Amino acid sequence: MSGCLFCKIIAQQIPSSKVYEDDYTFAFNDINPQAPVHILLVPKIHFAGVHEVTSDNVYIIKKLFDTVSVIVMQKGLAENGYRLVVNFGETAGQTVPHIHIHILSGREMRWPPG
Ligand code: 5GP
Ligand code: ZN
Repeated sequence: MSGCLFCKIIAQQIPSSKVYEDDYTFAFNDINPQAPVHILLVPKIHFAGVHEVTSDNVYIIKKLFDTVSVIVMQKGLAENGYRLVVNFGETAGQTVPHIHIHILSGREMRWPPG
């Protein structure tokens, strides 16, 4: 989608520190990390939130979680734990309206999140 920051990062029109890429998903380091490991994982097709998923594109949710597993294994995150976060809407803290999974690890996490 033109004008979308993460679509531009996926297209490599805006530089990022890439962690992983396949035909469906793209992962890169967050520019403002909230933990020693803070990776953003996005689908290559643009949609804003989980509730926009339809039967036509639900396969992308599996692709995203397949990539979570790859990154967790590659980076050895399972041993000390990790957190996945998906924000939707301003009140939930979403600032970029292209669905993304935050993969956070490397420090003690609190609950509930702020
Ligand atoms: P949200 O607040 O929408 O859940 O998460 C958006 C995330 O994107 C934030 O953690 C923010 O630091 C990150 N971010 C915003 N702009 C950029 C950018 O240009 N490059 C990268 N790598 N991350 C960004
Ligand atoms: Zn987008």
